[in-house]
Amino acid sequence: MPVSLYNTMSRKKEVFEPLVPSTARLYCCGPTVYNYAHIGNLRTYVFEDILHRVLEFNGFKVMHVMNITDVGHMTSDADDGDDKMQTAALRENKSPWEIAKFYEDAFFLDTSRLNIIKPQVTPRATEHVVEMIELIQRLEANGYTYVTTEGVYFDTSRNDDYGKLARLQLENQRTGRNEVVADETKRNPSDFVLWFLNKPTHIMKWESPWGPGYPGWHIECSAMSIKYLGETFDIHCGGVDHIPVHHTNEIAQSECATHAPFVKYWMHGEFLLMNGGKLSKSKLTQQTNDQRPKISTLQTMIDAGYDPLSYRYLCLQAHYRSELNFSLEALDASTAGLRKVYSLRPETDPLAGDAEAYQTARRRVLDAMNDDLGVPQAVGILNSYGSYSLWAEFDAVVGIDFVKRAKTTDVELPAEVLELIAKRNEARKTRQWAASDALRDQLIGMGYEVGDGAQGTTVKSRSL
Ligand SMILES: [Zn+2]
Repeated sequence: MPVSLYNTMSRKKEVFEPLVPSTARLYCCGPTVYNYAHIGNLRTYVFEDILHRVLEFNGFKVMHVMNITDVGHMTSDADDGDDKMQTAALRENKSPWEIAKFYEDAFFLDTSRLNIIKPQVTPRATEHVVEMIELIQRLEANGYTYVTTEGVYFDTSRNDDYGKLARLQLENQRTGRNEVVADETKRNPSDFVLWFLNKPTHIMKWESPWGPGYPGWHIECSAMSIKYLGETFDIHCGGVDHIPVHHTNEIAQSECATHAPFVKYWMHGEFLLMNGGKLSKSKLTQQTNDQRPKISTLQTMIDAGYDPLSYRYLCLQAHYRSELNFSLEALDASTAGLRKVYSLRPETDPLAGDAEAYQTARRRVLDAMNDDLGVPQAVGILNSYGSYSLWAEFDAVVGIDFVKRAKTTDVELPAEVLELIAKRNEARKTRQWAASDALRDQLIGMGYEVGDGAQGTTVKSRSL
């Protein structure tokens, strides 16, 4: 059955036809490891994991590469702002290398808790500086670079189809987002740094043919994707925010160095909105309403009593090309939905013993998944059948540990919790509101949703 994917380059859904039959070569832009990943960033990795799993489910051998950006870079994609790694190193009194290692480990702990399959190759930028220098030398030999006091630049005016992914109108391009330290030495506003020079305060530095310095951000993805997947490969993914600058520049420098088409299919995941607003990683946006927990990272979600798979399941409720609005209400609903899925039992499987009905159902789910990763539709179909065996098969894509979790039975509330509930009911009866509120907060702190029903305090566990 063909898999169709929406290609940002053509703005159309296309049937996926890999360059080498039955092998899918996939590159995903990885994390910059100077802080914990925000749940919004993690949404992108869930999308890429679904892509990986759908391709595998359809029989493709997936070669999945994701870089680790451990070189300090600027807070803006457009080469200006503060160096994130160095800021973190100062903040935490560590070296940039210690910062990078710490947050790389934290990132992979998060992704494993979300059942995200680890890409086979996860190259670190700092270990591929030689490859980056070689690529810049190829660009230099082909006449696409110039050197200023600030660094080695890519000359976008020499690249005829620069901006084709984002369909940029170059005359409208601004120099950088905050315009504070716009570089005076570059020739065109859209030109970007391949190699930074004369940055004495920068801690991470390497020798190069142009002098000591460090690589620009964009060049690392070109160098590492080409090294592990070849000069032309199948799919390149990232967040939608990568389209106008990062991926645009990756295409320009790769194609001008190799004279080969860089990538066949470009795929981009949409934003997670926090209470209706966009987030950015540099502002770990937090919620401020009443007593409810503040969620910004996966760990804060776990600390608030949620299961990481509730968040994975929530991500699957929206198509990857749609914005997803995050709220605790949505997370609670996702937890309830997941609890229902885990309550399915083989003894009551409506499709049991009916091979034909099973095949029809299976085809419907697979059709939805293969239509540009229509996982929300696929999950809807799975839930409409309520079939244990169907869920068990498609957990290979959905990834919620279905068989393992579905065996566990509902647990009773612990005695400690029952005692707090009794105390709170008593406090409310005698109108001791402060005491009642304190007991409520204690229950919330233990991972429960607390409500007031006709019979007194009601609690619902946020975990599964
Ligand atoms: Zn990248």
